[in-house]
Amino acid sequence: METLQIGRAKLTWLSGGVTHLDGGSMFGVVPKALWEKKYPHNDKNQIELRTDPILIELDGWYLLIDSGIGLNKLSDKQKRNFGVLEETKLEASLSELGLTVDDIDIVLMTHLHYDHANGLTKLINEEAHESVFQNAKIYVSQVEWDEMRHPNIRSVNTYWEKNWKPIVDQVYPFKEKIEILPGLTMIHTGGHSDGHAVIHFQDEADSFLHMADIMPTHAHQNKLWVLAYDDYPVQSVLQKEYWMEQGYKENAWFTFYHDAYFRAIKFNEQGEKVDQLERLRHAYD
Ligand SMILES: [Zn+2]
Repeated sequence: METLQIGRAKLTWLSGGVTHLDGGSMFGVVPKALWEKKYPHNDKNQIELRTDPILIELDGWYLLIDSGIGLNKLSDKQKRNFGVLEETKLEASLSELGLTVDDIDIVLMTHLHYDHANGLTKLINEEAHESVFQNAKIYVSQVEWDEMRHPNIRSVNTYWEKNWKPIVDQVYPFKEKIEILPGLTMIHTGGHSDGHAVIHFQDEADSFLHMADIMPTHAHQNKLWVLAYDDYPVQSVLQKEYWMEQGYKENAWFTFYHDAYFRAIKFNEQGEKVDQLERLRHAYD
């Protein structure tokens, strides 16, 4: 597992599963001739997208960013359509660190699309699901939480009842911005989904920015390269412009949930890459 120490925070990338989605959908209006130079695709034109939660150890607390693709949450047809070749191995990842799901104190949900929220609940019998992180407070924006429970005709395809009903007592919705621990903040951005949020951490000169799905991989560095999946693409571009400038100014690490090649990248003020943490490929990949 890859780790990165950023000030007081120690980040570890856990094994949350993988999807393979259409490259065109992931790069919106960008022609394939351009995006294929930045990110590899397979013969079905799909690109590999991890769904790997990031464990943050900070001031004695254990936090997660997003929850992975889950286990036994998808039908065979869904697995085929979403290119899910591997499901969550979160419990195994945690046990390598001497932890269990019960040790997780806080889960930061950037948004609640199935590929981020499936890992929040698990099937306990034919119909019933229960919460995976029984002791955790779950933070998500109020807008996202509202849409999760009352999806529209399009978003109903990604906001699933089995992912929210079992966790209602654990959810702490926030309006625009919330400081979770000193220096660790979640900020509502909208864009990818109406309730999408980014996560920022700063400890003196060290910082990281988790842009979630407004910059899902290193190949999405261009501010105009946003997803066809985005509900509000112009909002994504505006928020991306603002936050990337902030991150460049701070020399922040940009961390990724979906990137199959890089866990994190650090840029200078000109947006040039100055450091990187590559994803280690395992024998079973
Ligand atoms: Zn996503």
